[in-house]
Amino acid sequence: MNVESIYKEADALLSGHFILSSGTHSANYLQSAKVLEDPKRAELLATKLATQIKESGIEIDRVCAPALGGVIAGYELARALNLNSIFVERKEGEMQLRRGFEVKEGEKFIVCEDIITTGGSALEAAKILEDLGAQVVAFAALANRGFCKRVGVDKDPKSECKLPKSTPLFALADFEFNIYAPDDCPLCKDGSKAIKPGSRGN
Ligand code: ZN
Repeated sequence: MNVESIYKEADALLSGHFILSSGTHSANYLQSAKVLEDPKRAELLATKLATQIKESGIEIDRVCAPALGGVIAGYELARALNLNSIFVERKEGEMQLRRGFEVKEGEKFIVCEDIITTGGSALEAAKILEDLGAQVVAFAALANRGFCKRVGVDKDPKSECKLPKSTPLFALADFEFNIYAPDDCPLCKDGSKAIKPGSRGN
């Protein structure tokens, strides 16, 4: 399975000139919600991710995703692993467990995102579960931006990665893009104008 071509087919891997949320510029952008627009494609990706996780032999009781981005990926992963799925969400800026979801003492969780950049939201989700007495035994994502080290790739995590080194991250592919400071961007120097992805028309 070529994950990159699946993202391209779904128009989830954009090429152009983008302003990222960090303010830096890039010629590529992952619009990860697009790859989950088709439930069959979502199922295919989640099944592939679940196979990796099952092969590792790690024991997992439930899946938890940080909303909003992780919800569909987490739900599809739970289906593929034959487990239940819950999510945590931000309220007034703070990640919380709501909606009557409960966590049992000692329960083993995998925290699933659609895409892991530095892993900040995944880590916040993990902290909530651990504060409630659960254990986070692994992280998962469909796509990894290459800051964190995923299982099967022999590369050290970059300093930006917030996930604990001792907990495995399962992901289907690394999507590493060059990013540029706005005043040192070769695309800007070529005269093109950067756009904010997710704004109208992209
Ligand atoms: Zn630029």
